[in-house]
Amino acid sequence: MRCIDSLMSTLVRISEIGLYLRCPRLIYFENLRRTPQKIDANRILLHSLMLSISQKDDLEGQLRESLARLEEELPLVYEIGQHEMEPACRELEGEIAGIAQGLAGQLDLLLPCQAEVDLHSDKLGLSGRLDRLAPDGTPSLIRTGKAPEDGIWKRDRLMLAGYALLLGEKQKTHINQGLVEYPRQALVRAAEIHSVDRARVLRIRDRIRLIKEGQLPDRPEDAPCQDCEAREICETRHSLESRFF
Ligand code: SF4
Repeated sequence: MRCIDSLMSTLVRISEIGLYLRCPRLIYFENLRRTPQKIDANRILLHSLMLSISQKDDLEGQLRESLARLEEELPLVYEIGQHEMEPACRELEGEIAGIAQGLAGQLDLLLPCQAEVDLHSDKLGLSGRLDRLAPDGTPSLIRTGKAPEDGIWKRDRLMLAGYALLLGEKQKTHINQGLVEYPRQALVRAAEIHSVDRARVLRIRDRIRLIKEGQLPDRPEDAPCQDCEAREICETRHSLESRFF
């Protein structure tokens, strides 16, 4: 066991807050480097495409131009083969007109912006890379999955609260508003950031530190095991525990 000072100085990434909310045991296995890293070409492509938006004119043209460039560049950056990149690009090509039409009226919320902003705070024990710093210092997340019917997902709300803490500390203010971009549905949703969520982020930070110190959390009853990348190691661990206790 590491000493308490070393435990307290461990910076917890905001992405780990998201992982914890999916399942706390994923933090444990990721920390042991036992979770297979999946590279999802569709996700990386859509995320990069959203980050490429730099001006308000001719959004569809901009997106098409960026897609052609990303098709060449991303396989050089990530371990993605052409057999994955090509179908992902063709699928997204078919969605671009709808995405551009839906987002065109919401670009004032997103631009001008700073993309992929690195943030960290020793005082908060948190760090992270914010997708977009939108106008008025508003944190914005890009989500490549589906949006909920109303508002934003709980996981996104807490991750926004984490970034708001980091930005707020840097700017000596409280950030009370964030955005979540759901490009597949051409939506940008604004969300209020409440102090109760900021406090919850700090509690989760403390639990993550303990897990990283070696405390294996229980399996949550509603854990999404079906599609979990750590399922094999997690089940092995579970059967070992049952044998010993
Ligand atoms: S298999 Fe289930 S319990 Fe285990 S890490 Fe994955 S989601 Fe969590």
